[in-house]
Amino acid sequence: HAELCFLERFGSWQLDEGKQYRLTCYINWSPCPNCAQILVEFLGENRHVSLRIFAARIYKKSDGYKNIYTKPYTYEDGLRKLRDAGAQLAIMTRDELQYCWDTFVDNQGQPFRPCPIQEEHIRTASQELENILGRTLMDATTFKDNFSHRRARRTYLCYQVEVWEGDAWAPVEELYGFLCNQIPLLPPCAQGLRHAELCFLDRVPFWNLEEGRQYRLTCYISWSPCPDCAQRLVEFLGNNNHMRLRIFAARIYTFVSGHEDGLRQLWDAGAQLTIMTRNDLQHCWDTFVDNQGDPFEPCPIQVEHIGTESQELENILRNQGN
Ligand SMILES: [Zn+2]
Ligand SMILES: [Zn+2]
Repeated sequence: HAELCFLERFGSWQLDEGKQYRLTCYINWSPCPNCAQILVEFLGENRHVSLRIFAARIYKKSDGYKNIYTKPYTYEDGLRKLRDAGAQLAIMTRDELQYCWDTFVDNQGQPFRPCPIQEEHIRTASQELENILGRTLMDATTFKDNFSHRRARRTYLCYQVEVWEGDAWAPVEELYGFLCNQIPLLPPCAQGLRHAELCFLDRVPFWNLEEGRQYRLTCYISWSPCPDCAQRLVEFLGNNNHMRLRIFAARIYTFVSGHEDGLRQLWDAGAQLTIMTRNDLQHCWDTFVDNQGDPFEPCPIQVEHIGTESQELENILRNQGN
């Protein structure tokens, strides 16, 4: 496929790894799942490169590509993976078509004139891509169902990244969003499920955070980390001295034994652990939720729940070694 031919050429350019490069591809079909996977790996191995892809049309064959759960890996999955790996994805609009016409085409001095059908196609394809890549905001019902006293089945995680700038933490543009664990089964430790914390850790290497600076990662998560994820987060902190971690959890995950130990180890590794207060919920509502301008109003049960969970977390963290 064209993308792989392009990567082959890239290999021959011998770009200086000490510099940052931006590759822009205008492509008539968006990457198939297989090429998307290879591009994701390419971005992982080439941190000095960022990638923009403008596609004229969405390639919709999934070609039976399988992911590690041997579930069919669809073209939508491929595009989302690319997005999560930091690639910028868009449908070619009139501007990009015009640019290509001027730059790459022997246009014989002719003006570029898309027909009305093409204009219509740009609109539908852009909408379709937006639907595939998902809303950048969480819908209000999902937020209320998951960040509450209710025992929701999935785990949602909202995150933001800040960098230390002289005397204060400053948000890193673009580095915020939300995700959830990847197979909809029971909360959050059913087998074969990639937990939200691990999906989050998967994204971090793609952000190119500089080792010479200090970063603060903040996660608002609907269930506190299970012991396995706690362990992985501890390892992550051990390997990344330039990162701090704050976790605000809506509920304590109590479904497996050892959850208390996991939380204590995280705490000992320097992570900040707190139950989401009304202020934190309000912040998430304002930042990550498509709130339609509605105010955030926790019910009295939820307010009480915050109190009991906070007490419980305090007991766990204080009970060192018991
Ligand atoms: Zn392909
Ligand atoms: Zn977990």
